[in-house]
Amino acid sequence: MLTNNSTWDLNKQQHSTVNHSAECLRKAVPLMVKYNIAVTPANYALWYTYVSGKHPNLNDKLNEALKTFGTCPPALSRELFEEFLSDKDLELYDEVALEVDNLVLNMNADIIDTLDHTKEFSHALNECNTSLTSMQTGVVSTDAILDLVGKLSEESKAMQQTASLFQTKLDIAHKEISRLRLELQKTKQDANHDALTGLLNRGSFDEDIDALCQSKNKQSQLFLTFVDIDHFKKFNDDFGHQKGDQVLKIVAKMLKDKCNLLNTVYRFGGEEFCIISQNSDSKSCEAFVESIRVAIERLAVKDSKTGKNLRKISASFGIAEYLTGSPADLIEQADRAVYIAKQQGRNRIAFYRANATH
Ligand code: GH3
Ligand code: MG
Ligand code: MG
Repeated sequence: MLTNNSTWDLNKQQHSTVNHSAECLRKAVPLMVKYNIAVTPANYALWYTYVSGKHPNLNDKLNEALKTFGTCPPALSRELFEEFLSDKDLELYDEVALEVDNLVLNMNADIIDTLDHTKEFSHALNECNTSLTSMQTGVVSTDAILDLVGKLSEESKAMQQTASLFQTKLDIAHKEISRLRLELQKTKQDANHDALTGLLNRGSFDEDIDALCQSKNKQSQLFLTFVDIDHFKKFNDDFGHQKGDQVLKIVAKMLKDKCNLLNTVYRFGGEEFCIISQNSDSKSCEAFVESIRVAIERLAVKDSKTGKNLRKISASFGIAEYLTGSPADLIEQADRAVYIAKQQGRNRIAFYRANATH
């Protein structure tokens, strides 16, 4: 049969690290065939990553290898795997590939089944045809004709049943493929997003900030803003952890609504968020952050029964511009700027400068 529930019992924990979709699998395999790459789990992983474009450096190195050798030699593949991927990726790709393989195998078995039935049907038709031809030359009894028609009717009924069974199986297969695709999309979403707020998570931030610092050119500017909710612990202490969670959610929603293509917001951890701003100058970045500060300042925790404001919400902001150095330096600078904003009284913005913070 086509499906077996245990086959589809995907390991959710492993999948929480998924950062690829079935789409990548579809693109990766033909490339591997084209460039004569052995289909091993490690190579799967490597070429998945290549088509996903997740590591531009890996793509540069693979493109270089293809240009020089017309393939990627096994030793280089191993080296690249070690440099860019981990064993976690390996388990995952292996599992996804297995799911797809199972589906294809089962569909193949069904197609072979159907073909067998088709052969039987065509054999029965041939037999009937031979009988009819011989009947044309002799005397034909009504019984013989009825017999023949009965046989034909039985065979075509069997054929119809097979065809409809196959159709049902195809429908199930189609549903399973859609489910797999959704599962992959969801796990991709799970891997990149924070469960409570729905914002991009720390892992996504680390990846993005690394890539953006690496690719920044002289024409564009890059800013990192840390957002830290003021006295957040007191919301938990005074109104309970669930209200605390609600505060995180409404602040996250406000940040998300304010951000756009050039300003991306992440949950950094706990009650801290961060925003990466691209292509903006320091003045417009500061104005943008100020508009967020004011919007958060208007939020409040309300009494669920009376609707009355129980306590206002505010946050402190630290902005740092990326000039040189590592992403870790930039994070430290934005963090230092938040610290200054807190020291200066909270609900304000501090800008990191090399020798002073204002
Ligand atoms: P400050 O103004 O100096 O930033 O003070 P603060 O109270 O905001 O900062 P502090 O670091 O003292 O407290 C942060 C609190 O956030 C402590 C932790 O229990 C709470 N917290 C972290 N993550 C979550 C979460 O997901 N949900 C809830 N409800 N609380 C969280
Ligand atoms: Mg904090
Ligand atoms: Mg705080």
